[in-house]
Amino acid sequence: MKSARIVKPKEPLEIQELETPKAKGSQVVIKVQSSGVCHSDIHLWDGGYEGIEGQLLKTTDRGVKYPLTPGHEVAGVVESLGEEAQGFIKNDKVLVYPWIGEGLCPACRSGEENLCDRPRSLGVYTDGGYSEYVLVPSYRYLVKLNDEMDIDAASTLSCSALTAYGAVKNAHLKPYDNVVIVGAGGLGLMAIQLAKAITGSKIISMDLDDEKLKAAKRNGADIAINSKKEDPIKSVMEITDRMGADAVIDFVNASKTVETDMQFLRKRARLVLVGLFGGELKLGLVSMPTRAYRLIGSYTGTLSDMTELVSLAERGVISPLVSNRFKLNQATDALTMLKEGKIVGRGVINP
Ligand SMILES: [Zn+2]
Ligand SMILES: [Zn+2]
Repeated sequence: MKSARIVKPKEPLEIQELETPKAKGSQVVIKVQSSGVCHSDIHLWDGGYEGIEGQLLKTTDRGVKYPLTPGHEVAGVVESLGEEAQGFIKNDKVLVYPWIGEGLCPACRSGEENLCDRPRSLGVYTDGGYSEYVLVPSYRYLVKLNDEMDIDAASTLSCSALTAYGAVKNAHLKPYDNVVIVGAGGLGLMAIQLAKAITGSKIISMDLDDEKLKAAKRNGADIAINSKKEDPIKSVMEITDRMGADAVIDFVNASKTVETDMQFLRKRARLVLVGLFGGELKLGLVSMPTRAYRLIGSYTGTLSDMTELVSLAERGVISPLVSNRFKLNQATDALTMLKEGKIVGRGVINP
């Protein structure tokens, strides 16, 4: 099989000819039809991301090994099954849950494999979907898709939409809450759709780009704020009758955006930090208890969240957006375009 692999960080991906995996035990081999191109693939390609005081957090220190086939947003059809795999047959159309854990830690045991102490995520710690075939360690990580489901839209459900869904759930939104959603890229827009569909909160979208804010309105935002043109703190305080936002979901999560978020939190507000832009934050410690803020980190979502999302997408409650399609040998171009901000929506690779 052909796979597009990161051999060394920062160098163009190489198309390598590898042995097609064979499924044993409960394993399943998937013929990849669509593999989403995600911002976290750029961190794998760069070899790290920015931590405190500009220090690079290296992927190899977190257990990533190169050469690596990236790609954790995988949809396709079942090619072959191990003798213990159940519930699926060859050619079943499926989405793969990539946030695989070792199964034994407290997180795994309570259904939060995405937060496993010893993660084995597909396309991060093991070879993923930038490939003609991918080996999934168990049939339990597959969710069946109906025939009508668009395969490219489906692949985005396992990470970008799942991350948005996890963040919306972590914001604990109630009807009539004011929620500020920072960033109107792919994740922000999906969070707007989800918050609109399931919470009844008033949605305030914040971004620097008018085009993205127009998209935010089309996806269900009640109010759009361009934080480059207007004072974001003043605007949020006016919209919320000087109370502040009940929740903020920050899909950028850079020092600058979070410092601003902290200025318009209502008492009891939840600040959900999602983006991996990186940086640091200075906290006024007294206001944490006196205003009873909650800071919540949110990372992807659970297998049961993903199953719910597939159902929401199949019923047309949400519509994942796919904007760019690439072939396997264009993997480097896909990552470059994403890095340069030239993909509006979501890019996918069709091997
Ligand atoms: Zn991702
Ligand atoms: Zn675990």
